[in-house]
Amino acid sequence: MEQVLTVVLVVFACVAFASVLEGLFHQFILHTPQKRLLGGVLERSYVAHAVEHHPAYRGEEYHRPAPEEEAPISLGPFMWPATMIVTSPITIGVWLWLGPAAGLAVPITFTLYYVMYEFLHWHMHFPRPDGKPRWYHAFPPTLQLFRWFDKRHFIHHESDDRNFNVVIPIYDIVTGRYTTREDVHPWAVRVRKAKAMRKSAEIRAARAAAMVEEREPETVGKN
Ligand SMILES: [Zn+2]
Ligand SMILES: [Zn+2]
Repeated sequence: MEQVLTVVLVVFACVAFASVLEGLFHQFILHTPQKRLLGGVLERSYVAHAVEHHPAYRGEEYHRPAPEEEAPISLGPFMWPATMIVTSPITIGVWLWLGPAAGLAVPITFTLYYVMYEFLHWHMHFPRPDGKPRWYHAFPPTLQLFRWFDKRHFIHHESDDRNFNVVIPIYDIVTGRYTTREDVHPWAVRVRKAKAMRKSAEIRAARAAAMVEEREPETVGKN
Protein backbone atom coordinates (compact mmCIF):
# COMPACT_ATOMS: atom_id res chain seq x y z
CA MET A 1 0.00 0.00 0.00
CA GLU A 2 2.78 2.37 0.95
CA GLN A 3 4.52 1.54 -2.33
CA VAL A 4 1.38 2.40 -4.32
CA LEU A 5 1.08 5.74 -2.52
CA THR A 6 4.73 6.50 -3.26
CA VAL A 7 4.22 5.79 -6.97
CA VAL A 8 1.07 7.96 -7.06
CA LEU A 9 2.95 10.86 -5.44
CA VAL A 10 5.85 10.43 -7.89
CA VAL A 11 3.38 10.51 -10.81
CA PHE A 12 1.80 13.76 -9.52
CA ALA A 13 5.22 15.35 -9.02
CA CYS A 14 6.27 14.31 -12.55
CA VAL A 15 3.08 15.76 -14.09
CA ALA A 16 3.78 19.08 -12.33
CA PHE A 17 7.41 19.02 -13.50
CA ALA A 18 6.40 18.07 -17.05
CA SER A 19 3.97 21.01 -17.09
CA VAL A 20 6.79 23.39 -16.08
CA LEU A 21 9.14 21.90 -18.70
CA GLU A 22 6.43 22.17 -21.36
CA GLY A 23 5.67 25.79 -20.44
CA LEU A 24 9.35 26.82 -20.38
CA PHE A 25 10.04 25.06 -23.69
CA HIS A 26 6.98 26.58 -25.34
CA GLN A 27 7.62 30.12 -24.07
CA PHE A 28 11.41 30.34 -24.36
CA ILE A 29 12.22 28.02 -27.28
CA LEU A 30 9.09 27.94 -29.47
CA HIS A 31 8.24 31.63 -28.96
CA THR A 32 11.70 33.15 -28.43
CA PRO A 33 14.35 32.97 -31.19
CA GLN A 34 17.39 31.40 -29.46
CA LYS A 35 20.24 32.41 -31.74
CA ARG A 36 23.11 31.50 -29.42
CA LEU A 37 21.82 28.64 -27.24
CA LEU A 38 23.28 25.28 -28.49
CA GLY A 39 24.75 27.03 -31.54
CA GLY A 40 21.34 28.31 -32.65
CA VAL A 41 20.00 24.82 -33.53
CA LEU A 42 16.75 25.51 -31.64
CA GLU A 43 15.90 28.56 -33.75
CA ARG A 44 14.45 26.20 -36.36
CA SER A 45 11.84 25.10 -33.81
CA TYR A 46 10.94 28.76 -33.22
CA VAL A 47 10.47 29.37 -36.96
CA ALA A 48 8.39 26.19 -37.41
CA HIS A 49 6.13 27.02 -34.46
CA ALA A 50 5.90 30.79 -33.96
CA VAL A 51 6.42 31.91 -37.57
CA GLU A 52 4.86 29.10 -39.62
CA HIS A 53 2.35 27.27 -37.39
CA HIS A 54 0.87 30.08 -35.28
CA PRO A 55 -0.39 32.58 -37.87
CA ALA A 56 -1.60 29.74 -40.14
CA TYR A 57 -3.99 28.37 -37.47
CA ARG A 58 -5.90 31.35 -36.05
CA GLY A 59 -9.59 32.19 -35.76
CA GLU A 60 -11.57 30.51 -38.54
CA GLU A 61 -8.46 28.67 -39.70
CA TYR A 62 -7.70 27.18 -36.26
CA HIS A 63 -9.30 23.81 -37.07
CA ARG A 64 -8.75 22.72 -40.68
CA PRO A 65 -7.06 20.00 -42.74
CA ALA A 66 -3.36 20.67 -43.31
CA PRO A 67 -2.39 21.26 -46.96
CA GLU A 68 0.27 18.90 -48.38
CA GLU A 69 3.01 21.53 -48.48
CA GLU A 70 2.74 22.44 -44.78
CA ALA A 71 5.38 21.22 -42.32
CA PRO A 72 4.07 18.70 -39.77
CA ILE A 73 2.98 20.20 -36.44
CA SER A 74 4.43 17.43 -34.25
CA LEU A 75 7.59 18.21 -32.31
CA GLY A 76 9.74 15.89 -34.41
CA PRO A 77 11.59 12.58 -33.91
CA PHE A 78 14.26 13.92 -31.53
CA MET A 79 11.97 15.47 -28.95
CA TRP A 80 10.95 12.31 -27.08
CA PRO A 81 14.52 10.91 -26.78
CA ALA A 82 15.71 14.40 -25.74
CA THR A 83 13.02 14.50 -23.03
CA MET A 84 14.15 11.10 -21.73
CA ILE A 85 17.79 12.23 -21.63
CA VAL A 86 17.02 15.57 -19.93
CA THR A 87 14.87 13.86 -17.27
CA SER A 88 17.15 10.82 -16.79
CA PRO A 89 18.84 12.24 -13.62
CA ILE A 90 15.35 12.38 -12.03
CA THR A 91 14.64 8.77 -13.10
CA ILE A 92 17.94 7.53 -11.68
CA GLY A 93 17.59 9.59 -8.49
CA VAL A 94 14.02 8.42 -7.78
CA TRP A 95 14.94 4.78 -8.59
CA LEU A 96 17.85 4.83 -6.12
CA TRP A 97 15.84 6.71 -3.47
CA LEU A 98 12.38 5.11 -3.67
CA GLY A 99 12.90 1.85 -5.59
CA PRO A 100 12.34 0.48 -9.13
CA ALA A 101 8.54 0.97 -9.27
CA ALA A 102 8.78 4.68 -8.44
CA GLY A 103 11.84 4.99 -10.70
CA LEU A 104 9.99 3.49 -13.68
CA ALA A 105 6.99 5.74 -13.01
CA VAL A 106 9.15 8.76 -13.93
CA PRO A 107 9.88 8.01 -17.64
CA ILE A 108 6.41 6.46 -18.08
CA THR A 109 4.70 9.63 -16.79
CA PHE A 110 6.89 11.92 -18.93
CA THR A 111 6.20 9.71 -21.98
CA LEU A 112 2.43 9.77 -21.40
CA TYR A 113 2.52 13.55 -20.96
CA TYR A 114 4.45 13.83 -24.23
CA VAL A 115 1.96 11.56 -26.04
CA MET A 116 -0.91 13.66 -24.63
CA TYR A 117 0.73 16.81 -26.01
CA GLU A 118 1.03 15.35 -29.51
CA PHE A 119 -2.48 13.79 -29.39
CA LEU A 120 -4.19 16.97 -28.17
CA HIS A 121 -2.33 19.40 -30.41
CA TRP A 122 -3.03 17.23 -33.47
CA HIS A 123 -6.74 16.86 -32.67
CA MET A 124 -7.14 20.56 -31.81
CA HIS A 125 -6.07 21.59 -35.30
CA PHE A 126 -6.95 18.71 -37.62
CA PRO A 127 -10.42 17.30 -38.23
CA ARG A 128 -10.77 13.64 -39.20
CA PRO A 129 -10.08 13.12 -42.92
CA ASP A 130 -13.60 11.66 -43.38
CA GLY A 131 -15.20 14.69 -41.65
CA LYS A 132 -16.86 12.54 -38.93
CA PRO A 133 -16.70 13.50 -35.22
CA ARG A 134 -14.01 11.83 -33.10
CA TRP A 135 -14.88 9.24 -30.44
CA TYR A 136 -14.77 11.68 -27.50
CA HIS A 137 -17.41 13.91 -29.11
CA ALA A 138 -20.00 11.24 -28.24
CA PHE A 139 -19.51 11.45 -24.44
CA PRO A 140 -20.29 14.75 -22.67
CA PRO A 141 -17.52 14.41 -20.00
CA THR A 142 -14.75 13.70 -22.56
CA LEU A 143 -16.17 16.32 -24.93
CA GLN A 144 -16.15 18.93 -22.14
CA LEU A 145 -12.63 17.95 -21.16
CA PHE A 146 -11.40 18.22 -24.73
CA ARG A 147 -13.09 21.62 -25.12
CA TRP A 148 -11.23 22.87 -22.03
CA PHE A 149 -7.89 21.88 -23.61
CA ASP A 150 -8.95 23.21 -27.00
CA LYS A 151 -10.22 26.60 -25.80
CA ARG A 152 -6.95 27.35 -24.01
CA HIS A 153 -4.90 26.58 -27.13
CA PHE A 154 -7.31 28.54 -29.34
CA ILE A 155 -6.67 31.59 -27.11
CA HIS A 156 -2.92 30.91 -27.30
CA HIS A 157 -3.10 31.14 -31.09
CA GLU A 158 -5.03 34.44 -30.79
CA SER A 159 -2.34 36.05 -28.61
CA ASP A 160 0.76 34.01 -27.83
CA ASP A 161 1.48 35.49 -24.38
CA ARG A 162 -1.30 33.37 -22.82
CA ASN A 163 -1.69 29.61 -22.24
CA PHE A 164 1.72 28.13 -23.00
CA ASN A 165 0.61 24.72 -21.70
CA VAL A 166 -1.21 22.48 -24.17
CA VAL A 167 -1.63 19.68 -21.59
CA ILE A 168 -1.79 20.50 -17.84
CA PRO A 169 -1.73 24.27 -17.12
CA ILE A 170 0.28 24.29 -13.85
CA TYR A 171 3.04 26.42 -15.44
CA ASP A 172 0.46 28.88 -16.82
CA ILE A 173 -1.35 29.20 -13.48
CA VAL A 174 1.88 29.76 -11.51
CA THR A 175 3.34 32.27 -14.00
CA GLY A 176 0.09 34.21 -14.56
CA ARG A 177 -0.62 33.12 -18.14
CA TYR A 178 -3.71 30.93 -17.68
CA THR A 179 -7.14 31.87 -19.01
CA THR A 180 -10.12 30.16 -20.63
CA ARG A 181 -11.67 33.47 -21.78
CA GLU A 182 -10.52 35.42 -24.81
CA ASP A 183 -11.32 38.79 -23.20
CA VAL A 184 -9.32 38.05 -20.02
CA HIS A 185 -5.66 39.01 -19.74
CA PRO A 186 -4.04 37.14 -16.85
CA TRP A 187 -1.86 39.02 -14.35
CA ALA A 188 1.57 38.43 -15.95
CA VAL A 189 0.27 39.82 -19.25
CA ARG A 190 -1.21 42.87 -17.47
CA VAL A 191 2.07 43.47 -15.58
CA ARG A 192 4.11 43.27 -18.79
CA LYS A 193 1.75 45.63 -20.62
CA ALA A 194 1.77 48.14 -17.73
CA LYS A 195 5.61 48.05 -17.72
CA ALA A 196 5.72 48.66 -21.48
CA MET A 197 3.27 51.58 -21.14
CA ARG A 198 5.37 53.15 -18.36
CA LYS A 199 8.59 52.76 -20.36
CA SER A 200 6.92 54.24 -23.44
CA ALA A 201 5.65 57.23 -21.41
CA GLU A 202 9.16 57.76 -19.94
CA ILE A 203 10.80 57.73 -23.39
CA ARG A 204 8.21 60.17 -24.79
CA ALA A 205 8.56 62.50 -21.76
CA ALA A 206 12.39 62.46 -22.06
CA ARG A 207 12.16 63.24 -25.79
CA ALA A 208 9.71 66.10 -25.17
CA ALA A 209 12.01 67.52 -22.46
CA ALA A 210 15.03 67.32 -24.80
CA MET A 211 13.09 69.20 -27.51
CA VAL A 212 12.12 71.96 -25.05
CA GLU A 213 15.77 72.26 -24.00
CA GLU A 214 16.83 72.52 -27.64
CA ARG A 215 14.31 75.27 -28.30
CA GLU A 216 15.00 77.28 -25.15
CA PRO A 217 18.40 78.79 -26.13
CA GLU A 218 16.77 80.17 -29.34
CA THR A 219 13.97 81.78 -27.30
CA VAL A 220 16.51 83.30 -24.85
CA GLY A 221 18.58 84.62 -27.79
CA LYS A 222 15.56 86.40 -29.34
CA ASN A 223 14.68 88.19 -26.09
ZN1 LIG B 1 -1.20 24.98 -32.25
ZN1 LIG C 1 2.69 28.48 -29.33
